[in-house]
Amino acid sequence: MHFHILTLFPDMVMEGLNTSITGRAMKNGHISIEATNIRDFAGNKHGHVDDYPYGGGAGMVMQPGPVYDAYQHVKEQINKRKGIDKKEEACSKNIEQFVENKTDEKKRPRVVYMTPQGKVFNQSIAEKLSKEEDLILLCGHYEGIDERVLEMIVTDNLSIGDYVLTGGELPAMVVIDAVSRLVPGVLNNDVSAEFETFHDNLLEYPQYTRPEEFMGKKVPEVLLSGHHKNIEAWRKEQSIARTKEYRPDLWEKALKEDVDE
Ligand code: SAM
Repeated sequence: MHFHILTLFPDMVMEGLNTSITGRAMKNGHISIEATNIRDFAGNKHGHVDDYPYGGGAGMVMQPGPVYDAYQHVKEQINKRKGIDKKEEACSKNIEQFVENKTDEKKRPRVVYMTPQGKVFNQSIAEKLSKEEDLILLCGHYEGIDERVLEMIVTDNLSIGDYVLTGGELPAMVVIDAVSRLVPGVLNNDVSAEFETFHDNLLEYPQYTRPEEFMGKKVPEVLLSGHHKNIEAWRKEQSIARTKEYRPDLWEKALKEDVDE
């Protein structure tokens, strides 16, 4: 799977994602992540990409031109990799032709704008996104991005929660982390992503490792028994108990979906 990030702060995202599991997945070729600097498409020698909002108000707004050009650049790279003819894909700045191309969803990569106004990201969205071959993540800054370019290129709006951050970089990293660990081969043990928290709307059972006793606290006896059926039953019981306690909203959902099935 290929992730493409459109951002004003490429170092911020790449430094974070180059480490640990996502970093290893990139080295092993299970995923690729590249960040395109929107400022490279500023089109002026000062590298200005933002301006005052029409109508007044606080802060600055990212201008549509550099965002659109950065998007086109990434889209051309994707098409080159896929071997799609430039003529066939021709997408001029002419708005009519753009709209026509926009309706041809198959040819367009999915473009996710990270915004506090979007649908709140969750595990089931992560699972859906992990099926994409290419995913473009657009990060805003300041007061956000000129609405016109968002209307032209964005296919999905995603938020990582009901709070406002300074930029879309951390949210994009959150989405890439959650999605990439669902890509086959990224985790050493593929089953571990399947049976953890949020699977079946349940939180995962508690985990323990060596030593058997830590400051007088012992690992639950059943986990040392080697009796797989009992271990499985204990874990299910624990999952249900902690879901009821920590996330009653999720437990309601689990019950409802169980009845509906
Ligand atoms: N003025 C915008 C509003 O009220 O909706 C908020 C802009 S915010 C300060 C700057 C950028 O941070 C946004 O364009 C978006 O990309 C990102 N951002 C902030 N909070 C976010 C969240 N909860 N989820 C996803 N992206 C977020």
